[in-house]
Amino acid sequence: MSLIVQKFGGSSVANADGIKRVARRIVDTQKAGNDVVVVVSAMGDTTDDLLDVAEEVTGRAPGPSRELDMLLTAGERISMSVLAMAVNSLGAKAQSFTGSQAGMITDGVHGSARLVEVNPNRIQTSISQGNIAIVAGFQGMNRQTGDITTLGRGGSDTTAVALAAAMDADVCEIYTDVDGVYSADPRVVPSARKLDTVTSEEMLELAANGAKILHLRSVEYARRFNLKLHVRSSFSQNEGTIVIPDNPEEFEFENLKEIPLEQPLISGVTHDRSQAKVTVVGVPDVPGSAAKVFGLLNESNVNLDMIVQNISTDRSDVTDISFTCDQAQGGKAVEVLTNHKAELGFEEIKYNDSIGKLSLVGAGMKANPGVSFAFFDALRAAGVNIEMISTSEIRISVITDIDHLDEAVRAVHTAFGLDAEQEATVYGGTGR
Ligand code: ADP
Ligand code: ASP
Ligand code: MG
Repeated sequence: MSLIVQKFGGSSVANADGIKRVARRIVDTQKAGNDVVVVVSAMGDTTDDLLDVAEEVTGRAPGPSRELDMLLTAGERISMSVLAMAVNSLGAKAQSFTGSQAGMITDGVHGSARLVEVNPNRIQTSISQGNIAIVAGFQGMNRQTGDITTLGRGGSDTTAVALAAAMDADVCEIYTDVDGVYSADPRVVPSARKLDTVTSEEMLELAANGAKILHLRSVEYARRFNLKLHVRSSFSQNEGTIVIPDNPEEFEFENLKEIPLEQPLISGVTHDRSQAKVTVVGVPDVPGSAAKVFGLLNESNVNLDMIVQNISTDRSDVTDISFTCDQAQGGKAVEVLTNHKAELGFEEIKYNDSIGKLSLVGAGMKANPGVSFAFFDALRAAGVNIEMISTSEIRISVITDIDHLDEAVRAVHTAFGLDAEQEATVYGGTGR
């Protein structure tokens, strides 16, 4: 008997029909002779709707807090219980569990808590009694305080992977509103190509650079535990994308003809609209300036992405330092630097959140010097101006003006021959 962990995202359970469809799918999996543990997200855009309510009652965008976590976890409680009811009404047995009941123990960082322990004893007991166990995604409990925490937006994927790892599941299936991982977001590039397989190394880069199909931490977690992930649609029976663990020989890939021996040059193009760019203009060009700037940002827990330092064109004694961070942290970054203006000795700060990040990802680019040229040439041909550049061994990223982002993604996708003949299907969701 196999143990399968199935995670259903918000768009898969957006309304009563969705809940009933998912319930049938889960029951079919059990009837086929498997033990089934389900992780479910909040229905549709519930999490965003709850955030809107918090903003309405406080008059500002809510920051992470104990109360916000309490509020947001309510979304997953609704979907877990109604899904259990739907399964029960099909004649199978289901029990629902909150994150803390399922043994998801976290640290105390509200809004982005990290798992410190997973004790799925109650889940194990429940399935051994013939139940389908349904667990609320993206939440846990801080054992020291007993407070409820959330793992961060999109974190239900991580709940699923963590449970699958703790219970030694045979596979963790991530059900969503598209047929798998594509060479680009099908909402932006309709000609995106579905990938049958992707290595966990590439998936990490895709997820870290905006492909929100998988929560980044779920990919890291699956990689650490050598767990097989299958990303697929809950709206179709199509085979999805297998995220190949680092030791694939330990797994049976019964539904795949073979694991490709050589990876294609490029696996995909991602985009990210959630970043902001901060430029500290006219910093004294002396040793220690950058250390002071980044020391202050570090103390304020601002997570940085790209960093560029340029010598000022008209003066040799000062330099400009630019960096990108999450828009949600941009205000904090500007504030902390402005508060230390005298000490840092800069002239002004520029803030721009009308930017987008585009990344080209592929393990094959490691040994291929032509990739950079083809990438920048595609952007040139599309008339896209580049504001910043960063690279890793298997990725090139640029910052562009937000208005040119989608066009730039499509141009790069086409230039690398990634366009499929058939349009990708987006089955649901609002893309919010
Ligand atoms: P869920 O609610 O199931 O967790 P998400 O909205 O978090 O779903 O993730 C699925 C969405 O991710 C898709 O609808 C798609 O628009 C987006 N997406 C972004 N990049 C990619 C990609 N490379 N491949 C597939 N989907 C992608
Ligand atoms: N409901 C949460 C969110 O919208 C968690 C998840 O869906 O993974 O971010
Ligand atoms: Mg998601």
